[in-house]
Amino acid sequence: MDIRVGLGFDTHRLEAGRPLILGGVPIVSERGCVGHSDADVLIHALCDALLGAANLRDIGCHFPDTDPKYKGVDSRVLLRECCRMVREKAWEIANTDTVLVIQEPKINPYVPEMQAQLAAVMGIAEDAVSIKVKTSERLGFIGRCEGVSAQAVVLLTK
Ligand code: MG
Repeated sequence: MDIRVGLGFDTHRLEAGRPLILGGVPIVSERGCVGHSDADVLIHALCDALLGAANLRDIGCHFPDTDPKYKGVDSRVLLRECCRMVREKAWEIANTDTVLVIQEPKINPYVPEMQAQLAAVMGIAEDAVSIKVKTSERLGFIGRCEGVSAQAVVLLTK
C-alpha cells in the first residue's frame, strides 16, 4: 500500500461585525474572519493538507484571491474540489486531524456539527475527521482576538 501525508496551515484576521464560519458552520461571534472567500480558516488548512498530500501545490494556486469567481465563495466548494483533485490522482482519503486555535468564542459546542459537515463534503466517515480546539492562553495575535489559525494533517492511501 502506498501512503502519503499532507500538512496544512492557515491564518485569518478577525474583524468586528463579520460572520465567523469555521468548518462550514456559522458560529455566533462578535467578530468574524476577513478574507476573499468566506474565510473559513479550518477548511483552508484542510484543503492545503489534501493538496499537499497529493503533491498538488496549494490552495492559492488553484483558487487565487485575485479571481472574482472566488469572492465570498463557500469554502466547502473549495474543499469538495480539492477532494475531487486528490481522488483524480487515485488517492483515497483515510483521515484528517486538525487543530483550530482561537481565543473566543468557545468552539467546542460546534465541533460535532463541524465534523459532520467536513465528513459529508469530503465523502468520508465522521470518525475519520478529528477537530481539536485550543486557545493561545491570551498570548499573541490569537490571544488578543485579532486572528485565528488552523492546522491540518491528511493521510492518503492507494
Ligand atoms: Mg485562508
